Amino acid sequence: MVAELYTDLSPRNLLEICQKLENDAMRQREIVNGPRTLDLDVLWIENEEIDDPDLIVPHPRMFERGFVMIPLNDLNTEIAGKWIRENMPKEGGYPGISHIGSLNLKEYAPPPIISTKESLRQFADAARKDGKTIGLVPTMGAFHKGHTSLIQRCQSENDISIVTVFVNPLQFNEPDDFKSYPRDMEQDMEILEDLSVDLVFAPEQEEMYPEPVLLGFSAGALTSELEGEYRPGHLEGVFTIVAKLFNIAGQCRAYFGEKDYQQLLTVRQMVKDLCMPVEIISCPTVREADGLALSSRNVLLSQEQREAAPHLYKTLLEGKQLIEEGENKPSRVIKKMQRSLKVHPRINLQYLDIRNASDFSVPPKITEPVRILLAVQIDEIRLIDNVTAEAAAKK
Ligand code: AMP
Repeated sequence: MVAELYTDLSPRNLLEICQKLENDAMRQREIVNGPRTLDLDVLWIENEEIDDPDLIVPHPRMFERGFVMIPLNDLNTEIAGKWIRENMPKEGGYPGISHIGSLNLKEYAPPPIISTKESLRQFADAARKDGKTIGLVPTMGAFHKGHTSLIQRCQSENDISIVTVFVNPLQFNEPDDFKSYPRDMEQDMEILEDLSVDLVFAPEQEEMYPEPVLLGFSAGALTSELEGEYRPGHLEGVFTIVAKLFNIAGQCRAYFGEKDYQQLLTVRQMVKDLCMPVEIISCPTVREADGLALSSRNVLLSQEQREAAPHLYKTLLEGKQLIEEGENKPSRVIKKMQRSLKVHPRINLQYLDIRNASDFSVPPKITEPVRILLAVQIDEIRLIDNVTAEAAAKK
């Protein structure tokens, strides 16, 4: 992370404070240039050049370090912009530099975090100019294995992988849900570091929404039914943020989970209808051993709620089995599943429906692959899930 300080301290005093902070955080340096609890450097002081043995400003190695220059671009495009255009990774290594001496930066350095639209645009433009393919994984953070599966798939299919972390206020129809949404940037960064992601885009709210968004969006049943009915405005909010991200990042592949199936189809429709140069890649739902679909919200479940939660997937599998054994009337499948869910007193069903998997249309009879989708409240916690099912005759 690169931060800008306004201070009356002398450069030497500033350095002393940095060193004190490092010591207080028990800086560990068993390996030279290896991982440390905290490493603070004075990089740049406006209009100053210092060349003392223990303090050199500008920092002599800052121009070697992608993880410094890329976030620095948020603060000072003049210094960093040129560097970024000239130093994109040449061999799929860390942006600009993969090694310092024998040290592989991929093993130690955290991915650069940027927070401005302009930096993301520059980074992506420079990567494409260099012939690199870009993969984008939009997220709201609080990572679990569902997120990491998307990121790993993205890394396996692209030269440069960018993960965005932004809790998008526009897609929360309940202010309390937005407030209580889990956030853990520190742990997220550790995960992204372990995965050696190339770049993290984590903007502030004002960066994405400097003024109110006026443009509206609707995509027929995709935005008005099921999730659209129970979370009015939610998918419109998703549309706005995803459209912004795609317009900033430009041509790329973007990775979305089937866990949020209606969202996936809505984003696909948006890309198709608006000719966006983005290929949407869908990734299967990652589950706990007992079948509960991983979700950032799962950490909010009490023990009793958590015990009830696997019932969703069990019921979905019952529906899938009925269809695959030959039941082709959606209403009969739905009725049986509703009965099965009712057994659990904590689970309040919001919707349970069967839609054609390709276009979300309502099948009078199940003749092509379908999705069985449901949303429930377990007390105050809302969970959604879905599975695919294929009519017996088609198999
Ligand atoms: P979120 O941070 O919840 O907005 O999710 C970011 C992306 O991860 C979305 O495309 C989700 O569909 C996807 N995702 C969330 N949970 C899972 C899961 N259990 N398995 C696979 N993908 C998931």
